[in-house]
Amino acid sequence: MKYQDAIKREMEILAEDDKVIFLGYNLIHGSKSYGTLKDIDVSKCVETPVAENLMAGLAIGLALEGFKPVLFYERHDFMLIALDALVNHLDKMEVMSKGQFKAPIIIRAIVGATKPLYPGLQHMQDFTEIFKRIVHFPVYEANNVEEIKRAYEEARKFEKPVMVIERKDLYSEEFEDNQEKLILDGTKLAWHKERIEAWLRGERIAPITIDCALTRRCNYKCVYCYGQLQENDEKRMTLDVIRRFLKDAAEIGVKAISFVSDGESTCSAYLYDAIIYGKSLGLDMALGTNGRLLRKDRLKDILPCLTYLRFNFSAGEPRRYAEIMGCKEEDFYEVIDIIKEAVQIKKQNNFNVTIGMQMVLMPEFKDQILPLAKLGKELGVDYLVIKHCSDDEEGNLGVKYDKYFEKDLIEMIKEAESYSTDTYSVKAKWSKILSGGKRDYSQCYGPPFIIQLSGSGLVAPCGMLFNDKYKKYHIGNICEKSFKEIWQSDKYWEVMNLIASEKFDAKTMCGTLCLQHKVNEFLDKLKKGEIEYKQPEGKFPMHINFI
Ligand code: SF4
Ligand code: SF4
Repeated sequence: MKYQDAIKREMEILAEDDKVIFLGYNLIHGSKSYGTLKDIDVSKCVETPVAENLMAGLAIGLALEGFKPVLFYERHDFMLIALDALVNHLDKMEVMSKGQFKAPIIIRAIVGATKPLYPGLQHMQDFTEIFKRIVHFPVYEANNVEEIKRAYEEARKFEKPVMVIERKDLYSEEFEDNQEKLILDGTKLAWHKERIEAWLRGERIAPITIDCALTRRCNYKCVYCYGQLQENDEKRMTLDVIRRFLKDAAEIGVKAISFVSDGESTCSAYLYDAIIYGKSLGLDMALGTNGRLLRKDRLKDILPCLTYLRFNFSAGEPRRYAEIMGCKEEDFYEVIDIIKEAVQIKKQNNFNVTIGMQMVLMPEFKDQILPLAKLGKELGVDYLVIKHCSDDEEGNLGVKYDKYFEKDLIEMIKEAESYSTDTYSVKAKWSKILSGGKRDYSQCYGPPFIIQLSGSGLVAPCGMLFNDKYKKYHIGNICEKSFKEIWQSDKYWEVMNLIASEKFDAKTMCGTLCLQHKVNEFLDKLKKGEIEYKQPEGKFPMHINFI
């Protein structure tokens, strides 16, 4: 689907609401807001003079009178004129009036086009990062069709002001809008041009993705759990700590947070608040869980805030499920019920969340590949991913990588993949399963782009370095210091530089197949000049910010 068409579709959904009113210039005349309002009845549009501050004032007034204004700014450059109304009034109104007045407005803020004609320096500036810092309401980046859908799913609740950043240069781009582009075996880093170029220039970049947990606890004892190898000093992740971390992450430019890492985040009482709060800050949120403690009564609250919800579910039969995942057979049925409920709520409400299942495959679990692939289809989830098991550098989990090459195991995975349909995709992480647990690179460049935090609050480059024996790589703890301070500290960059230096050899010093592996492979080739960086053309993949 074209980027422009996706926005047009959102405008048309909005227009169905009697209270929605569109404001700006070139709405009724001229480009009809770059074509996105061309089929909207003119009675719902207010054509304003070119007076950005006045436009914001009008929208605020209409919102106070019970309308739902959608305010269109053709370019960031001239929104500076409107900052008084947006920052001093709109942003502070609810707090200053102690909740008496609210003005929920949707602000469409366009970054001007740079092609086909060079528009001049005052017509192409991008103030996204500045907007994110000077207002408290969410600023959503819409860089592809998926992000457009997610931004408007939130925005049309009209609970608070929301800014949606559009990019005029993308208007004629085609984007994938289905399961085909769900990349489960690879990295999406190449789509993050600005971050890669900044890194290549030697700048201190914010991570694109942070993978973390809200606790180190877990109610299961999976035989393949890497968490048991990550022992470190546990601090209390309070709600204040979690909220401060999320706020810092959004402020420095992190795009996505996944609650996976080394603990079962459903064991934290703050999980639901954290997901909702993170989303309200404009972060893409995701959850990986065994699902047993996931509250059915909260699914409706969190599903619209999640990009994906992934169930860690490594067997298709109850007895084997209990053996492999260290729990009771009854848990198998309980989790199935929760998955069914999540799928039903998603479908009923047309939520844009991807619901998946993940099998961590040790060669000795191969009898469960096909039962699980069938089960996933029956449950109506979007995908089942079959992945390798990671092990530490001493092989403590005893993963036999040579057994992944056995013919019958490979055939079973292929058969499982053949169960895929238009709405259900079974995919194996072949590149890792058939890697023999080896890597080709020695220096590690990935963590500045995708970092991991332990459920203890510990900040380290990756989960494989969480254990206390790797203390020299430990950067700080968000229970003791804000994430922003940790990220700005020299220690952060000393550790990142150390693992990227010749003093470090990932081939001998690290465990196998870490989370950053595919990112590392890509960056290693880039650094060595084996590939030239070029942003992929055309379609953007789903879940782009979970690299
Ligand atoms: S559910 Fe996750 S954290 Fe818990 S034991 Fe299993 S792998 Fe480890
Ligand atoms: S290569 Fe080593 S240091 Fe780098 S992310 Fe992987 S396990 Fe961590």
